[in-house]
Amino acid sequence: MTLLDTARAVREKAYAPYSNFKVGAAIMAANGTAYSGCNVENAAYPEGTCAEAGAIAAMVAAGQTRITEVAVIADAPRPVPPCGGCRQKLAEFAGPDAKITMATTAGTTEETTVGALLPGAFGASDLT
Ligand SMILES: [Zn+2]
Repeated sequence: MTLLDTARAVREKAYAPYSNFKVGAAIMAANGTAYSGCNVENAAYPEGTCAEAGAIAAMVAAGQTRITEVAVIADAPRPVPPCGGCRQKLAEFAGPDAKITMATTAGTTEETTVGALLPGAFGASDLT
């Protein structure tokens, strides 16, 4: 199963009764294991969480902190890009060259990198 297949499968579990915009994300950690997440909405709208955040939480809970590759998929008019907040969340654990595959459920894909989506990212080195 490819990383995109994993994202496509977890998307089916998304809890999106308000927007009906289901998103699936899968991330490959440095240990070679894929972790996945889906968006989880809430009646108090701002409390909802993105698919990427769920995948990152699963990875960190498993003791991993390094992302090598990402896949995101939604039923969208174009390959769905991570939102701004998720770009920052991904940059925390991924190098700028980490590949991101963005996809639609209809089968269109586009590849980019964490660095291309968030140039000049704020990071831990900015805190010192
Ligand atoms: Zn997001």
